[in-house]
Amino acid sequence: MVALAAPAATRNVVVLGASYAGARAAELLSRTLPPTHRVVVIDRQSHFNHLYLHPRVSVVPGHSAKTFIPYTGVLPASDAGTTNASLPLSNKARHVVIHASVTALNDDFIELDRDLLEHERDLEGEAEEIETLTEELEPARLDAAPRDKKRSTRRLSWEYMIYALGCQLPPCLTSGARTKKDGVAFLEGRGAEIKRATKVLIAGGGALGIQFASDIADLYNNPDNVSHLNLAEGEAPPPKKDITLVHSRDRFLPLYKQEMHDEIVRRLEVLGVKVILGERLQLPPQEEDKPGTLKTVKLRDGRELEYDLLLRCTGQKPNSELLKQWMPEALDEWGFVKIRPTLQVDVAALPNADKRSEKLRRNVYSIGDVAAAGVIKAGHTGWNQAGVAVQNIMCSVETDALVANNEPTTPPKLVEYERSPPQIKVTLGLRHSASEMCKEMGDQETHFVKGEGGPVDGHYAMVWERMGADPSDFNA
Ligand SMILES: Cc1cc2nc3c(=O)[nH]c(=O)nc-3n(C[C@H](O)[C@H](O)[C@H](O)COP(=O)(O)OP(=O)(O)OC[C@H]3O[C@@H](n4cnc5c(N)ncnc54)[C@H](O)[C@@H]3O)c2cc1C
Repeated sequence: MVALAAPAATRNVVVLGASYAGARAAELLSRTLPPTHRVVVIDRQSHFNHLYLHPRVSVVPGHSAKTFIPYTGVLPASDAGTTNASLPLSNKARHVVIHASVTALNDDFIELDRDLLEHERDLEGEAEEIETLTEELEPARLDAAPRDKKRSTRRLSWEYMIYALGCQLPPCLTSGARTKKDGVAFLEGRGAEIKRATKVLIAGGGALGIQFASDIADLYNNPDNVSHLNLAEGEAPPPKKDITLVHSRDRFLPLYKQEMHDEIVRRLEVLGVKVILGERLQLPPQEEDKPGTLKTVKLRDGRELEYDLLLRCTGQKPNSELLKQWMPEALDEWGFVKIRPTLQVDVAALPNADKRSEKLRRNVYSIGDVAAAGVIKAGHTGWNQAGVAVQNIMCSVETDALVANNEPTTPPKLVEYERSPPQIKVTLGLRHSASEMCKEMGDQETHFVKGEGGPVDGHYAMVWERMGADPSDFNA
């Protein structure tokens, strides 16, 4: 495969995945890359999915749209650090967000499931980006099949790559939606199933299971919250819920202090949730889940539980299949991406001397949930990793420039990611929470705190603003 990129073509730093880790990396790169480079950030979703609130908004009706944030503000239109009268392109035209699924990776290019130059759009809000791409990405294209224009524009060359494709969501939140409209419809559909249910069984007592159990109980069984049900005039009140939470361990959130477990147990008791610890359900295959039909399931000890809605809140599988096909030596036994302290993908198993391994070893990074970074899988850890990966890429880009100008260089001095202790905030009903956090960035000690109050839609506006979007227009 030969790259036909013209020598002066802007070089692509591709960020795969535009969620908490990837979107932050793209934002930082767009602020700091020199005019020789552009960020191309690719995600199959049309909008940033603010996952933290998905359990809440799938229980409490009327808020789902607030959790899908347009990507339009992720790459700042201009930046004082890079704006320069001699630049051929404005920041906005140089950097791009592409709504496409990555289907294959290669030493020279990445492949997408849709044509970069496609003008007929099936996703929302990308007219300008596609126009820009038509002119801008053409020189960066790899012409694998010159007469087959359509195929060739599904490929994009890369010089640096950040692999941030995250993990699959637990089944209760997995939708396959790629647009805001479909995402909202999925969450509202889940909400309608919850509303109709009488016996809710929740499998898995991690943060997700705990939040679902406590929100459902607080909304449907607590008369103080009737206003949040959004009932139509004359509509009969929905049935009260009998809620059971089954957890395989003897303790909730065992990474955290005993106070965390104790507070969770206390709140679930107040809310009337039945808790079964140290047990496993003998669950039927997922295809047999039929909300609205009364069924029974056995626990390992032989006890039977009845349910008409099952929420499966377990399982975290990395989205590392693409990397596995390209360089399987980079994955650990669970399928997470092995990384070095610098967050470069660890491909120590590749032969030492060849040109291929030199590029893969130096220019491919992985961050966020998909990376085996030795910290909890969380939005805030992925966000912090983005800063380290970008700093290191910038350092290498500067070295590349010196080499290109035949100037003396020393090997780039890359920084290492500093792990932070596990931190969490878990909601325990519509107005209660428990947190274990560090007081300041960089602290190693965490503190347990109980919380009360706060809006039912979870400060969503702050996240919109952080993403450069206008929260007053949350249907955008
Ligand atoms: C219900 C819930 C609540 C949570 N609450 C918190 C919290 O309060 N605080 C906290 O810090 N963390 C929280 N987390 C964890 C946090 O959401 C994750 O750690 C975070 O989403 C990981 O971010 P990421 O960028 O690594 O990947 P992900 O968020 O998993 O995103 C991966 C991205 O890659 C895209 N993608 C995947 N495959 C492809 C492909 N082939 N082509 C193109 N795009 C692709 C996806 O569309 C997605 O946008 C919560 C998680 C859940 C599920």
